[in-house]
Amino acid sequence: MRIEIDRDVCIGAGQCALTAPEVFTQDDDGYSTLLPGREDGHGSPLLREAARACPVSAITVSETAS
Ligand code: SF4
Repeated sequence: MRIEIDRDVCIGAGQCALTAPEVFTQDDDGYSTLLPGREDGHGSPLLREAARACPVSAITVSETAS
């Protein structure tokens, strides 16, 4: 899995961190960021849910080849 957060779009709503707290967190400015070591989504079943929960669709989840 590959996760991309468009921080130009993110409004810091925090829905991603609420939905999948094992993958997303918020930085000091309130914007979404990935927890260290969780850049691949950590196999979280909530990952796609978190992407859907984002009110501005800032999160893109894509399959990786490997
Ligand atoms: S849910 Fe979307 S807008 Fe809110 S913090 Fe996460 S990426 Fe940003």
